Amino acid sequence: MQEIPKQFNFQEDEEKIYKLWEESGFFSPDKIDSEEKYCNVLPPPNANGELHLGHASGYTVMDIFGRYERMKGKKVLLLPGKDHAGIQTQVVFEKKLKEEKNISRHELGREEFYKQSYEFTTKSADYMRSQEKRIGISADWSREKFTLDPDVLKTALETFVKMYEDGMIYKGRRIINWCSRCATALSDVEVVHQEAEGKLYYIKYPIKGSEKFITVATTRPETMLGDTAVAVNPKDKKYEKLVGKSVILPLQDRKIPIIADYRIEMEFGTGAVKITPAHDPLDWEIGKEHNLEEIQVIDEKAEITAAGGKYEGLKVLEARDQILKDLAELGLLEKEEENKINKSICERCKTIIEPLISQQWFANVDAEKYSLKKEALKAIKDGQIEIFPKNFKKIMIHWYENLNDWCISRQIWWGPQFPVWYKGEEIYVGLEKPDSESPDSAKASTGEWIQDENTFDTWFTSGQWPYTTLRFPEGEDANKFYPTDMMVMGRDILPFWAARMIMFGLYKTGQAPFKNLYFTGLVRDKEGYKFSKSRGNGIDPLEMIEKYGADALRLSLVMDIAPGQDSRLYEEKIESFRNFVTKLWNIFRYCTSVENFELVEKLEKEDLKSLSDRWIVSELEEAKKAISDLLKNRDISLAQSRLRRFTWDQFADWYVEINKIEKNTKVLGYVLDNLIKMWHPFTPFVTEKMWNILKGEKNLLMVEKWPEADGQLIDKNSQKEFVGLQEIMAKIRNIRSNYHISPLEIIDAYGEERGENEIIGRLGRIKISSVRAVGKMLPISGQGITLWLDIAKMIDVKKELGMTNKEIKNFENLIAKTEALINNEKFRSKASAEIINSTNARLDGYRQKLEIQKDLEKNLKSLL
Ligand SMILES: [Zn+2]
Repeated sequence: MQEIPKQFNFQEDEEKIYKLWEESGFFSPDKIDSEEKYCNVLPPPNANGELHLGHASGYTVMDIFGRYERMKGKKVLLLPGKDHAGIQTQVVFEKKLKEEKNISRHELGREEFYKQSYEFTTKSADYMRSQEKRIGISADWSREKFTLDPDVLKTALETFVKMYEDGMIYKGRRIINWCSRCATALSDVEVVHQEAEGKLYYIKYPIKGSEKFITVATTRPETMLGDTAVAVNPKDKKYEKLVGKSVILPLQDRKIPIIADYRIEMEFGTGAVKITPAHDPLDWEIGKEHNLEEIQVIDEKAEITAAGGKYEGLKVLEARDQILKDLAELGLLEKEEENKINKSICERCKTIIEPLISQQWFANVDAEKYSLKKEALKAIKDGQIEIFPKNFKKIMIHWYENLNDWCISRQIWWGPQFPVWYKGEEIYVGLEKPDSESPDSAKASTGEWIQDENTFDTWFTSGQWPYTTLRFPEGEDANKFYPTDMMVMGRDILPFWAARMIMFGLYKTGQAPFKNLYFTGLVRDKEGYKFSKSRGNGIDPLEMIEKYGADALRLSLVMDIAPGQDSRLYEEKIESFRNFVTKLWNIFRYCTSVENFELVEKLEKEDLKSLSDRWIVSELEEAKKAISDLLKNRDISLAQSRLRRFTWDQFADWYVEINKIEKNTKVLGYVLDNLIKMWHPFTPFVTEKMWNILKGEKNLLMVEKWPEADGQLIDKNSQKEFVGLQEIMAKIRNIRSNYHISPLEIIDAYGEERGENEIIGRLGRIKISSVRAVGKMLPISGQGITLWLDIAKMIDVKKELGMTNKEIKNFENLIAKTEALINNEKFRSKASAEIINSTNARLDGYRQKLEIQKDLEKNLKSLL
């Protein structure tokens, strides 16, 4: 055996151990001989990113499941990859160009920009990969994929062509979210809604053929240039007579109708609102139903168009100021009110979103030939996918039920371009640019085929990730591993990603892409805030790994955290898990320091020599069964806490101490063998190091068999008996502290002769004799064992009684005062529920302490 270092030297060892794993080839499923398989296609992080806590938390969960399944003997494939991350990467790379070369993407040109972005992204991917390895993920790097790999992309684009042929794709004018900085359309989920301070403006519109006005309230007065109606709720009595009449739109001198629509909120402003179909999603819908004209007055640069008359060319906010000034001069601005408004901003660059009508590509999610939405709903409702936590099933159903057609085109440069080609009036949809002879049209016109300039929404390619990476349908891996077994992701990307993968998977392969879908919560800081650059509360996972080790970080990210629930992380917490790993190491060191120690894989009943042996092994077998069941149910946190309880509370605190007396090395070797194996998925580095020390570098723990419970070794009676022994020990400890007897002093005691007396004597520091001494003694008992402690000679009974009486009076006083407070009307009416609860809790505490003192008093009196 190697010499065992005092501490686990993670700074040196983690890298070596990861190398051992990689070189062993066991990250690849091909090296494992088994009929059973387990596959988890890992969510591809942004290739130009840095490993953040969200990734670290997800990877830890995925790796725990993966390592567990591998130890269960399955061919395990954790398939890693990277995402080109469209808009996000383009924003980062544009910024880099600006900072380093002071040029814009337009100065580079589209082709060069794409080429440089590609180089930048693949270079960053190398860096990202080295970071991912640090958390210990046992992924098969030889199979790593990138969303823009030619084979991956080909499959993804083929899906578009198939959808087009199936009548699920259309080009249409529709209101979309437009970011004027990114110069692209955004999907609903790429827009962040925020409440902000703003103003509500009341504007008077003159009613045609009358001296009267109708006042509308709006937060965006500049859009009035494009108004094509004023709307009221049909139930609104005060406007009943005006419906059907017209107003003259101020500043534009256009006649527009007053219409009634049930979607208008009577409580908002005056109950009458302006309708601008070209610049508001709800107005757009209303406009469609009432056949209103769509007048675009704001363009893609967030400037007023020619349709805005004299305001043409002004920026949105400049136009707003001018319009308000002009309205005031005309006496048409009734008032301004401070108001909370809902602001929509670009998730990536925080620019205010302009809703615009624009020509975009859409996926019809409910097409005649195939309904993406209905098929996905059916799969979820039928339970084709098991979802953790279970209540997220409802969220998914709700999301699908409210799903609208999906705008899949973006106007950015970084990403795959649409496989759509134009020549004059002709359109061709296919992966390759057609010959200049038209492929499917007789009227072969002259001229070049020009490719559609749009790029795909990132989620269109990553939504197909499970089968594109496995090269469905012809790839060997697709045969073996599709549908996959597990998908893990942060709950925040459920709508972006999980929902889309399910729709695409069902459409393209006829099967849901994964059997289990596990959501992790968000990792927040100590106060519960999200980590963000602006808040400056970030924790760098790599820095934490340097300081405390990957095992400690892994534990802090999954321990005591339920699936889907947010958790808090801070440095002290990670540090405390480092101490936890150290404790594990110390147990290992103690065991291996025992003479002739070796790991023992199998134990017979005859090997169990004492009550303690039978007890610890019985507890171990029960724990093994419980932990396996919990892991099968994907309950990492409970599995871990069950393992932790056995490790510390039973093995370290009791058995190890007893073993120092009883010296059953075989049992020690058996328990440690099990512990190292069961801790491995959670803390792979430190356990592999232990294995390495005991078994040599040729034998890797990562492919050892997961320990299964041996029912033969479960012994309920011994468990019960041992509890009695623990009770006695606890009572002895209490007596020492209550009567101020030093832990070093040996207490004389009288008790029946029994096998456990030596253990009780040694651990409790008492001397048990079967001959009763003269004088009064204090009896203690638990589970059929009774002992009489001769403490009267060790303490000053009268002095102790005096102290106890004082304590009793003290607590009686406190109880009376607290009761009076609680019964006081004034207090009850003024105090918060929290204060009342804590006062009640305090009262309970006093009462319990009083009981203890009364017991002590009784015992002391019995010694007089
Ligand atoms: Zn933007």
